[in-house]
Amino acid sequence: NISTSSRQIRQLDEAAINRIAAGEVVERPASAVKELVENALDAGATRIEVTIADGGKTLIRVADDGCGIPATDLPLALARHATSKIDGSDLLDIRSFGFRGEALASLGAVGRLCIVSRVRGQDAARIEVDGGRLGAAQPAARQPGTTVEVRDLFHATPARLKFLRSDRAEMQAVGDVVRRLAMAEPFVGFVLRDCTGGEERETFRADAEQGELFGALAGRLSAVIGRDFAANALRIEAERDGVTLTGYAGLPTYSRGAAVAQYVFVNGRPVRDKLLLGALGAGYSDVLHRGRYPVAALFVGCDPRAVDVNVHPAKAEVRFREPGTVRGLVVSAIRHALAGAGHRASTTVAG
Ligand code: ADP
Ligand code: MG
Repeated sequence: NISTSSRQIRQLDEAAINRIAAGEVVERPASAVKELVENALDAGATRIEVTIADGGKTLIRVADDGCGIPATDLPLALARHATSKIDGSDLLDIRSFGFRGEALASLGAVGRLCIVSRVRGQDAARIEVDGGRLGAAQPAARQPGTTVEVRDLFHATPARLKFLRSDRAEMQAVGDVVRRLAMAEPFVGFVLRDCTGGEERETFRADAEQGELFGALAGRLSAVIGRDFAANALRIEAERDGVTLTGYAGLPTYSRGAAVAQYVFVNGRPVRDKLLLGALGAGYSDVLHRGRYPVAALFVGCDPRAVDVNVHPAKAEVRFREPGTVRGLVVSAIRHALAGAGHRASTTVAG
């Protein structure tokens, strides 16, 4: 029963708009970490440190050695729909992780946000925003790069806070996000720390890999999936109609009892794509029993115009222009690799 006074149409204020939008972009601590680490990667960082307390509910801190934000741009970085990554003229040609200009504005709307940043050759500055209220930029001290700190995520939206899971479960989701991005960027060093209760514990570390891509990738996948993965995996390298597929697919003997170690990437972006995961399973259908799941990390590369990443605010889903080509490529590349390794090949391999 809506009272007549509230039936009046009114324009919501900026803080309310940001809180509503934040609900889509920042679902839980792990999604905040994803946005911040992606920003660090877009900034060209070579080393990224993530610090979490209480499953990310009280503290999320991401520090990078990337290009930094000029002091004069700090307020703008926190504004909604403000981005340095696209000019809006071509949403089909996106080459950065970010482009919506919503993450920092959203985090500032639902938590206490502090950014300290320095562009090489300039002075460092800091800015704070709490519940949508923006402070003034202040001088600060820092090495070149950016630190973004979010304290008390969702303190401004208690309803969302209630839906979060245990600290342990949230921390696990944070770890998953960091590991997926670490796989996507083997030449970048990653550290994840848990400082719950003031005591710091390193929960994940992957030092920057060196050398050529396949070797670097093998090293990084071993750091993330397990030290024995590279020795138990087949190199995948295939191409069809301008779509490339690279990565490593585990031997059938290295399979797991659940689909817990299947990683797919599109143009360097970790995704949870049903089409790709389905194709991965289909590639193994002849060599794995029901209830066994392959371990794999597959990287699809294509013209950015052949895939739409602007399907969902968190960009976890993508739409391919030629889904049949992508599926066929994955299935046949895996079957081919398995056959080459002496595992029974399917008679239905196409192309
Ligand atoms: P988007 O990533 O979609 O552009 P964000 O809200 O995540 O939107 O960030 C807004 C802007 O702030 C970015 O476009 C970028 O210019 C700047 N920025 C954010 N994080 C960083 C960072 N870690 N290093 C350098 N610049 C950053
Ligand atoms: Mg971003």
